[in-house]
Order: sequence, then C-alpha cells, then structure tokens
Amino acid sequence: MLTLRLIINLYAMKNLIYFPLLMLLFLNCKNDQKSSASDQQTKVNAESVDDSTAHKINEFAIVIHGGAGTILRKNMSPEDESAYNAKLEEAIRVGYDILKNGGSSLDAVEKTINVLENSPLFNAGKGAVFTNAGVNELDASIMDGKNLDAGASAGTKTVKNPINLARAVMEKSPHVMLSGEGAEQFAKEQGLEIVDPSYFYTEGRFKALERVKASQENESARDKSAFYDPTIKDSKFGTVGCVALDKDGNLAAGTSTGGMTNKRWGRIGDAPIIGAGTYANNATCAVSSTGWGEYFIRAMVAHDISALMAYKGLSLKEAAKVVIQKKVPDLGGDGGIIAVDKDGHMVMEFNTEGMYRASMDASGNLTIGIYKD
Ligand code: ASP
Repeated sequence: MLTLRLIINLYAMKNLIYFPLLMLLFLNCKNDQKSSASDQQTKVNAESVDDSTAHKINEFAIVIHGGAGTILRKNMSPEDESAYNAKLEEAIRVGYDILKNGGSSLDAVEKTINVLENSPLFNAGKGAVFTNAGVNELDASIMDGKNLDAGASAGTKTVKNPINLARAVMEKSPHVMLSGEGAEQFAKEQGLEIVDPSYFYTEGRFKALERVKASQENESARDKSAFYDPTIKDSKFGTVGCVALDKDGNLAAGTSTGGMTNKRWGRIGDAPIIGAGTYANNATCAVSSTGWGEYFIRAMVAHDISALMAYKGLSLKEAAKVVIQKKVPDLGGDGGIIAVDKDGHMVMEFNTEGMYRASMDASGNLTIGIYKD
C-alpha cells in the first residue's frame, strides 16, 4: 500500500516537473515560428525597400505644364515662343531649387504654380479666361501624396493665387473643396491676397471671349456644339500644373485654371476635382491634367493613372498612355497630363498638337517643350 502511494506521488511530482518543461518547449517553438515569420516580413520589407531604391532613378524631380491644345509652330511667333519658354523655365527652377534644398514637394508645387499664375501667358491666375458674363472664375486643387490629403477651390473671382487657397483649404479647413463666395470668405480669413476682379482682365483673353461669342452666334445648335467649334474647343488652353517628388519620397500635385472661355452656369472643369485634374499618392504617382475638362472628369484621368499602376502593375508611362491615348480619346476628349512616380520617372503625355511643358531631374537636366514634335 505504502509502495503504491509512493509510486503515485512520484508520478505526480514528475508531472509537476515535466508539465512546465513541456510548456516552455512549446512556447519556445511558437516564438521561433513567430520570429521566423517576422524575419521573413523584415526580409520582404527590406527587399521592397531595396527594390524601390534600385528602381529609383531620381532622388527628386519636377514636371510642369502650361496647358495642352492645338498649339502649332506656324501660329507661334519666335517672340511668343521664347516668352513661353522663359516663363516655363523660370517657374520650374523655383520648384527645382526648393526640392534641391530639401524642401517639400508641396512647397515646390505651390510656389512653381504661383509663378505661372502671376503670368498673363497662361490660363490661370492673372491670365484666366473670361466667362460668358465677362468675368473670371478660377479653379484650383492640390494633393499631398503622403497622406492623401487634398484641397480645392472652385469659381473664385478675387483670390489672386487660387493654388494657395487650395492648399489653405487642405491644411486649415476640415473640408476638401470650397466654392464661390464662401471660398473667398475663407481666403480672406486666412490672410491670402485678395484682388479686385479687374486684376484678371487681359485684353487678349477678353478678345478671345468676343471671338468665341461671335463664332457661336453663327452656329445653329450652339449650346450643344460648344466644343465642336475649334476656336471654342481651344479656348480653354493654358491651365497650369505641377507635380513633384521630394528627397523624402513625398509626391505632390497641383493644378490651377481659369477654365474655359465663355463658360456658363457656374461651370466647373476637372482642374479642382481630385482624381480628375489632380492626384497624388506616395505609393504610385502624382498627376496634373490639362484638357477638355468634361471628359477628364468622366474618365477620372489622374486617379485612373494611379489605379492602373496600383492594381494592374503598369509603369507610369504605360498607365499614362492607356488613359491619354485610348481612354480619353475613345470618349471623345483630348488633352494631356504631366506626372512623376515614386521612383522619379517623369511623364508628359498628350494627344493634342502641343502642350506647354518642362521637366527637371535631380541632376538638373532641364527639358522644355511646346509642340508634339
Ligand atoms: N481642364 C481645364 C478645364 O476644363 C482646361 C484646360 O486644361 O485647358 O477647365
């Protein structure tokens, strides 16, 4: 009896010793599994980091446009041509210097666009086109690829630099898009520069309005055919945009425009629509559009390029081609985009006769273009 009790006690003691030992062994095993899984994860991350570094062709980069359309060499005087080239270069160098000195892509985009907005050469800011009522209504948007934050303003008449307003909407308001008088009120409260609407008057743009109106009067079904008349179709060109990649890997995009000559009923184009006129996402690319706004809205051009990269694995160049050379023209629209991806590849794609454009890579190589070839 005594022996039996001894055996039972010994067996219980053995369990007391073995059980924790077994538990320790089990936990250790789990930990090993976990750490090998996290090792693997680190490897994957490291690989993708290595990958992206390997594919990075520019530490930073910047691209701008000043509108796409029927821009023909034969219609351009050498003086006009050099004026456009000089302004494009002046603008892109402002952004380039910001990026080179370690500044943010958002600052580069905003300040570069300011130069173009302050020039009467482009249909944005100072050079905005006229509405049917003979006033100027301006649209703009900006997007931060780091956090997908975005801001836009539409139909403002007194804000000197609409891109600054778009950025203030993004950073200082809980909203993404403000319009009309409310947007102007907000701009005032933010201390942005307010001008008399007459600031936006330029003789050339006013004459363009008169021309467009006169040619429309000769059209029978004029409301429907607005875009089929080449004078009118091309009366929107000169929108400006900028995309940039900074040294921290952050992408940003911005677009600013006066819209379309002779526009009516508070018409808003694609420029202030996030996803159509402007889009930026650090995972893919930054895009700014210019062209026939109605079609760019329907095709969601800027976001579509990013989506083709994200979901289909296309390169920026391939994605831009699909959207600009196929999707938009298939719908009946025309125009172009500028874009830069997270690795610093730059693209300037358009299906029109020309697009005012310029790009600069991290080494300072500058390209400026106006015509298709
Ligand atoms: N996309 C602009 C709009 O439709 C015009 C342009 O880019 O030329 O308002």
